[in-house]
Amino acid sequence: MKYATKILHNGNEVDKYTGALNIPIYQTSTFRQIDVDNPPEFDYSRSGNPTRAALENTMAILEGGTNAYAFSSGMAAISSVLSLLKPKEHIIASQDLYGGTYRALTRHFANYNIEYTFVDTTNISKIEEAIKPNTRMLYLETPSNPLLKITDLKICAELAKRHNIITAVDNTFMSPYLQRPLELGIDISIHSATKFIGGHSDVIGGIVVVKDTNLAKKIYFIQNTLGAVLNPQDSWLLLRGLKTLKVRMDAEVEGAKFLASNLLKYDFVKKVYYPGLEEHEGYKIHKNQAYGPGAVLSIETKDVEAAKKIMNGVKLLLVAVSLGGVESILSYPAKMSHASLPRNEKEKLGIKDSLLRISVGLEDPEDIMADIFNAANS
Ligand SMILES: *Cc1c(COP(=O)(O)O)cnc(C)c1O
Repeated sequence: MKYATKILHNGNEVDKYTGALNIPIYQTSTFRQIDVDNPPEFDYSRSGNPTRAALENTMAILEGGTNAYAFSSGMAAISSVLSLLKPKEHIIASQDLYGGTYRALTRHFANYNIEYTFVDTTNISKIEEAIKPNTRMLYLETPSNPLLKITDLKICAELAKRHNIITAVDNTFMSPYLQRPLELGIDISIHSATKFIGGHSDVIGGIVVVKDTNLAKKIYFIQNTLGAVLNPQDSWLLLRGLKTLKVRMDAEVEGAKFLASNLLKYDFVKKVYYPGLEEHEGYKIHKNQAYGPGAVLSIETKDVEAAKKIMNGVKLLLVAVSLGGVESILSYPAKMSHASLPRNEKEKLGIKDSLLRISVGLEDPEDIMADIFNAANS
């Protein structure tokens, strides 16, 4: 079965209790037990809920895994994965990491004596150098945020296996439609479902997918123990969002390609970061491991004033944090997604004050282009 069909027909789309063509929102905290010796499939909604289960099973199939778990946010999903680590264990993570993940490692998990090293994971020898006897996890983001750097997932998975290290990838920027890390040998794929999976900027959620039943048991234990589960309403919204994942992403990728290839024509743009451009450093690796370049690009404007002018002048693009919605969103990484990074860290990573990130929505790309041009020249 081709992927587009699998999104809609994967065995989880029809409610098995009523035949409803949409999984009902099972808005219940608990379930009646008829035979105490034989507990039912669902007994309490933190431990399991039919609406959430439909979403989890769908995500497992779409990501090429065996099990998936839905959380109350992307950060809840990420924190739950990081909770696999024990005190005195070490994690190696991508250098330009989502700001919230950086904060979780440096200011929360550090309190539990989890050691961390940030490395430029586009350079495999840098990862190898960072491996210590207590290294237990390699945590990657590709394309990275906000500079869209590309890490070779297959090579990382092989390296990690040789050292008995678990690999986890934040796959938010790609969605399962455009990249499936588990197929490349990665152990854990994570999503902020708030972005492309929900797709309509109306829900906060997170997903963890694994393909190993032992690891699945551990993640389920953490999900049920820490309890940061996704509620039935939001599980339903994500199931609904998933149905149009392919058509949304196809159109948004086209829009992003159009913007990426045309923005450089203007003198207010100094650099375009987009893995769909042949001149992008990671172009070849990305093309090999993903099914498309995605809908997010970043631009470096000629100076801070130009960046501010665009942010203050756009009328269609919405200045906001987040990405992956049907509406195009313009964000300012230095002050928004990466605000929790210290200034010197930001400078080291190249997250300049003249950097803007665009998540391309479903508007006509020519209108988005004109909106940016008019704002820059206002
Ligand atoms: C938004 C985002 C997160 C955090 O997800 P929330 O749903 O906001 O908790 C993590 N990683 C990436 C790449 C993101 O874009």
